[in-house]
Amino acid sequence: MSEESFNPYEMALEELRIAAEVMDLNSNIHESLKYPKRALLVSVQVLMDDGSVKIFRGYRVQHSDARGPYKGGIRYHPDVTLDEVKALAMWMTWKCAVLDVPLGGAKGGVACNPKKLSMGELERLTRRYTTMILDFIGPYRDVPAPDVYTNPQVMAWVLDTYSQIQGYLVPGVITGKPLSVGGSEGRNEATSRGLTYAVIEAIKHLNMNLKDMTVAVQGYGNVGMNAAKLLHQEGCKIVGVSDSKGGIYKADGLNPLKALEHKEKTGSVMGLEGCKDITNEELLELECDILVPAALENQITEKNAPNIKAKIVAEGANGPTTPAANKILYEKGILVIPDILANAGGVTVSYLEWVQNLGREHWTEKEVNNTLKRKMLKAFDDVFDTSKKYNIDMKTAATVLGVSRVAEAIQTLGMWP
Ligand code: NAD
Repeated sequence: MSEESFNPYEMALEELRIAAEVMDLNSNIHESLKYPKRALLVSVQVLMDDGSVKIFRGYRVQHSDARGPYKGGIRYHPDVTLDEVKALAMWMTWKCAVLDVPLGGAKGGVACNPKKLSMGELERLTRRYTTMILDFIGPYRDVPAPDVYTNPQVMAWVLDTYSQIQGYLVPGVITGKPLSVGGSEGRNEATSRGLTYAVIEAIKHLNMNLKDMTVAVQGYGNVGMNAAKLLHQEGCKIVGVSDSKGGIYKADGLNPLKALEHKEKTGSVMGLEGCKDITNEELLELECDILVPAALENQITEKNAPNIKAKIVAEGANGPTTPAANKILYEKGILVIPDILANAGGVTVSYLEWVQNLGREHWTEKEVNNTLKRKMLKAFDDVFDTSKKYNIDMKTAATVLGVSRVAEAIQTLGMWP
């Protein structure tokens, strides 16, 4: 696969191929896991504020439900493609299996630029998209959640649209909701909290000390900003952060909350007082101990992997490192905490939110965070043990672990007809 013509689905297939080879996966199961079980393409008609009607391409892809109902976020981004959604759905299948939550893998997306839509347009787009995927989702069927450029408000519109048509409120149809309509305590920060637990566990395995470690974070949204905030609270020095416009650097550490405030005021972290503006490319190659790519796919490639200086790469984003780059990082002795482990805190607390919804319960933040921590540490150790068992890198180990659990379920269910 050439990194110039990057295709996330081809990358996901390559990761699956590598894992299948390591674990000597049954060829029939390998073949069935290459393809999503179902992929839906919809044309989302939206009445714009100026009276015109625009059509947006939308997708919902369901990869595997062998271990439970489909689960996966909805992404709003101009570059969303069917192949991207197929890759993200497959990664969700492995992720849920690695965390050992009884859910399958799915993903959704609409190719749009939400920054250019008014609140009203965004709401109409969300409600129309929801009605078009309505027959495919449901609390026991497929449960969406937030992803890039979607947030709790968008989840609330999905919930309301689905519930209006059912005739009663169905909170279990979606996770990442606001607290007032059945959301879970701790969901907003869950992905980054899970990532922080994984980083702390990795540091223990490496016999290092988290305090005063330097951190660079690419992407300053839900995952990146909260990761910077939580790692800062753990005593780390945040030396660089970035967003889609570019990044900032401060050798003796910046205040992540000041960076957030500045981004909210100006639209970017760039230009924060006392910091040097840098590019996203420079951010990835910064002198630091921990690098957290938390934006999009295909950021660490064969080209820049040799220049990565961090000791740990904690993948907040899905698919930020290509297989070829992952090999280079492994050979350089860099510990990669792979996406399907590092960012699995989000789906873990989504699972806890869903369980609360189905049981009509509401747990405290402490209860949620304790369960999240227990599940993240168990998953980290399972992946670490798999990497030792086969003498392989953490990324391949996580895929091997996830695929083996899904394969076991497929084998046990059998094939019908
Ligand atoms: P978000 O929309 O909250 O934030 C995305 C951030 O990335 C924004 O700051 C944006 O400016 C920045 N960005 C966009 N394009 C960029 C580029 N080319 N270079 C640098 N920065 C860029 O999204 P999020 O929910 O934080 O998701 C980020 C990543 O984490 C995605 O890969 C997503 O799939 C993954 N993820 C999210 C969750 C979750 O719970 N939100 C869970 C697991 C994985």
